[in-house]
Amino acid sequence: MLKKNIISMNSTLEKFIPKYYDVGVNITDSMFNGNYHGKIHHQNDIIQVLKKAFKHHVNDVLLTGSSLSESNKTIEIIQSLKNEINLPNLYSTVGIHPCAVLEFENASISVDDHLFKLENLINKGIKLNIIRAFGEIGLDYDRLNFTPIDKQLIYFEKQLNLATKFNLPLFLHMRTACDDFIKILKPFLEKNLLINKNLLIHSFTGNKLELEKLLNLNGFNNYNIYISLNGASLRDNSTLDIIHLIPLNRLMIETDSPWCEIKKSHPSYKYLEKSPNIFYPCDYENYNNIGNDVKEILNSNTKKNLNLSLHEFLPIPIVKSDKFDSFKYKSFFEDTPLIKNRNEPCLIGLVAQVISKITKQNPQLIIESAYNNSRQVFG
Ligand SMILES: [Zn+2]
Repeated sequence: MLKKNIISMNSTLEKFIPKYYDVGVNITDSMFNGNYHGKIHHQNDIIQVLKKAFKHHVNDVLLTGSSLSESNKTIEIIQSLKNEINLPNLYSTVGIHPCAVLEFENASISVDDHLFKLENLINKGIKLNIIRAFGEIGLDYDRLNFTPIDKQLIYFEKQLNLATKFNLPLFLHMRTACDDFIKILKPFLEKNLLINKNLLIHSFTGNKLELEKLLNLNGFNNYNIYISLNGASLRDNSTLDIIHLIPLNRLMIETDSPWCEIKKSHPSYKYLEKSPNIFYPCDYENYNNIGNDVKEILNSNTKKNLNLSLHEFLPIPIVKSDKFDSFKYKSFFEDTPLIKNRNEPCLIGLVAQVISKITKQNPQLIIESAYNNSRQVFG
């Protein structure tokens, strides 16, 4: 009996399959439409991007709404995909990003009417069971060229006031604005104004003091603060040094794709290892539709002669954006190619890998904690 138990325990360990919840994907970004700096390089590949994510264990994705029109478009994209199979569960946030809040003033309607439109869109998204968070809203003092500070402060507060009408978690954006961010947010917590008790500060890139100040809000009037990390959060040694301070029950992960990838120049890059591993149990050997000829190619040194590049850590082809449509080896791969310098949700396992290496935490624990926290907050 004992022996049998040990065997079954071992087999569960061996069989661990990661499950990811990418809480930040900007699906309406023009790069997913093949448009790079105003030039069309390839066809829209949103469906392929999401299928690739699903195949690489991304079970749920929270798409980011960053303006009224983008939030609306995100909801439309989710609706248009509802009959597709082999996709992650797709949800969306609705809100206006600090870099976009001048739309309140540029619109042909009054600020109140613009807020009313936002409110209507949220109600619509809730009815459709698509909206899972209010955001992204917040402050971004790194990019004041888009919105000056005074305007950011006004519209962060106005949107927080609107948020009090809904039982939705907050999806918050904060860049080098920690004290002002807390000054505006804290009264809402003090007065218990937000119905939903969960707040995510996404794409954290701050310093130790900022992290401590944000985590100090946790538990205040029973509000829960979560922090999500992506490649941009892991781009400096100073942040790598502090991520162990994020308790596992506060941690989420995201790609913020098509942005915020882990780059070769980042200190985090050296922690990445080639799959198959616990983060990507996929292996060419297990790819169903790949014939022996391709396995041979993938395992050999002939890739260069064939003009075929694979991602450095994953068995997925990778091309420059303008070579995507003419990629010759489509039929050999289940995945469509990744695109150089464009992040995708299927790369979220790399974020988990770096966090696990840096914090010296068990990979399974990192993956499961981030997933369970996200499910608990966004469903
Ligand atoms: Zn953001």
